[in-house]
Amino acid sequence: MGGNLIDQHVSKKELFGHPAGLYVLFLTEMWERFSYYGMRAILVLYLVSETTGENHGLGWTNAEALQLYGWYTMLVYFMSIPGGFIADKYLGQKKSVLIGGIILTAGHAILAYEEVWAFYTGLLLIISGVGMLKPNISTMVGGLYQKGDIRRDQGFTIFYIGINVGAFLAAIIVGYVGENIGWHYGFGLAGIGMALGLLVYYFGQPYLEHVGNFIGNSKSAKDKEALKKPLTRIEKDRMIVLFISFLLVIIFWGAYEQAGGLLNLYALEKTDRHFLGWVVPASWFQSLAAFFIIVIGTAVAKFWAKRKLKGKKASSIFKMLTGLIVMGTGFLFMSAASIQYENSGSSAMYWLVLAYLFHTLGELSVSPVALSFITKLAPVRYASIMMGIYFAMTGLGNKLAGLLGESASNYGEFTIFTGIAVFCISFGLVVMLFMKKLEKLTHGAEDNEHVIEE
Ligand code: GLN
Repeated sequence: MGGNLIDQHVSKKELFGHPAGLYVLFLTEMWERFSYYGMRAILVLYLVSETTGENHGLGWTNAEALQLYGWYTMLVYFMSIPGGFIADKYLGQKKSVLIGGIILTAGHAILAYEEVWAFYTGLLLIISGVGMLKPNISTMVGGLYQKGDIRRDQGFTIFYIGINVGAFLAAIIVGYVGENIGWHYGFGLAGIGMALGLLVYYFGQPYLEHVGNFIGNSKSAKDKEALKKPLTRIEKDRMIVLFISFLLVIIFWGAYEQAGGLLNLYALEKTDRHFLGWVVPASWFQSLAAFFIIVIGTAVAKFWAKRKLKGKKASSIFKMLTGLIVMGTGFLFMSAASIQYENSGSSAMYWLVLAYLFHTLGELSVSPVALSFITKLAPVRYASIMMGIYFAMTGLGNKLAGLLGESASNYGEFTIFTGIAVFCISFGLVVMLFMKKLEKLTHGAEDNEHVIEE
């Protein structure tokens, strides 16, 4: 079974019950996501703003802006494939993250200039920078834990909370600065956030000594063997189960990512947002998912870890299928909201709150779990590329979400919401029938996860 990422040496320094390096990666990714989601929050608004006036934009139509947005969010994740490939083949994850951070800082800084060339150059740099950073920093989290360490999944959830702290602050702060002070100040602020992330990463290197190193030039016989060997049958099986789980990932994000599109518009146009004599801004609902993740993240991770320690079913496949079903169920609240809208001309806010709560409960059993799962299953020489492919699949899910959202204007919201719910729930249940078979393909990669005593 040699050659798995998790067999690498592991740094000993600990903080709050986890390797100290986790917090370096947490803060780096928090700032990276701050810059990504901050810029994303104002991108479309900037594109459609009039070309004249105080805070002028590019004067595009809504359709043009949404099209660029769709391609942008897809490409950002697709570039994780070359990003992962470069890490596996040439640089290792640690250096790739550093280079990605530098490219990202440059990209966001260039966007602060009010020039058309700067705009496109900035976008291209951000797409490449995320591709270098995002998959590789995620793989590094896995490298912090030994094989069989029960804390690995929890570590990924903590890392995921960092992502959402960044996303939560970004929507509020960068959104405010962009809209009220100037788009380019907003872009610049995103750049400052990324620069801070880069600094944290740079100065946090001592805590990452043993993680994410390039093993292509390694002198150790074990590393050499891991690199040269063709895939064994066990490794092949594990790759197969990973690819099957990626299908679930596309479906999950295709449904979940209605948040920024269809659910966003639903909040704006069809929801009664009056609350104690005040109207809740529609955009606030966009922060709800990140907020819930920060609040319930550790509880969900603990729940699964406890189940596992008690010997109850808690494999990654089971968690991910459960997550898909729970998230799908969230859409039933939106079906109820559409019925209420049909009957009374508006729907209540609590439907959206419930939907987002279920979406995040589901997300916490899918997204960090999938990241962790990849680091358990991928052979070390393909660890980053597998992570890259995973993110590309989430990009595909994003694009699918856009297409689904658009079709609501033909079919109506009720049909789309209910259709998504029924599809996700039945897909989850049907695949559960084959769960034993899928688990077998992992060849015990998740057996004996326990508390590791030093
Ligand atoms: N929201 C998460 C993040 O930004 C997951 C995104 C994804 O997997 N596409 O990391």
